[in-house]
Amino acid sequence: MSKETLIKSIREIPDFPIPGILFYDVTTLFKNPAALQELSDTLYEMYKDKGITKVVGIESRGFIMGPILATRLGAGFIPIRKPGKLPAETIEESYDKEYGKDTVQMHKDAINEEDVVLLHDDLLATGGTMEAACKLVKQMNPQKVYVNFIIELKELHGKDVFGKDIDVESVLSL
Ligand code: 5GP
Repeated sequence: MSKETLIKSIREIPDFPIPGILFYDVTTLFKNPAALQELSDTLYEMYKDKGITKVVGIESRGFIMGPILATRLGAGFIPIRKPGKLPAETIEESYDKEYGKDTVQMHKDAINEEDVVLLHDDLLATGGTMEAACKLVKQMNPQKVYVNFIIELKELHGKDVFGKDIDVESVLSL
């Protein structure tokens, strides 16, 4: 399946969740068996030789391909969640959104210094969410941090928020 066919499997929803926003709905990609297999294979090929020991998924759309990829890589899966959802001791990071602030949390014992970490989310817009997630992971001093998205919205230049030490890749650029 070509990248164009994979892109066509993503549904575009105008004015969601608020007027003026064009929302890329990845549930239609996940629903399509051939597209889901292609995405899984592509992600596996991108990261199979990196020695990844933990895949970190961002709530909630990072919880779909994150565990699929972790299984294929023989890595563990770690959730980063919104406040108040994780049961054990957490660390947290707040970040600015267009309107107000948001916070993400991760279990304190989720990652250690021996880990090679791949953070995954469905879409890169401004980069605020993933930047906060990276700060959480980096507090644990892992060997190396990779960041991955299914979709990157090029015009928003979200990639620019990440330091040169972090390897950022997307499957699709829109
Ligand atoms: P950022 O923090 O980069 O500005 O926004 C990215 C976050 O918002 C991701 O967690 C992503 O799931 C969500 N997001 C923003 N816009 C879209 C969109 O058009 N489609 C999807 N699927 N998620 C979006």
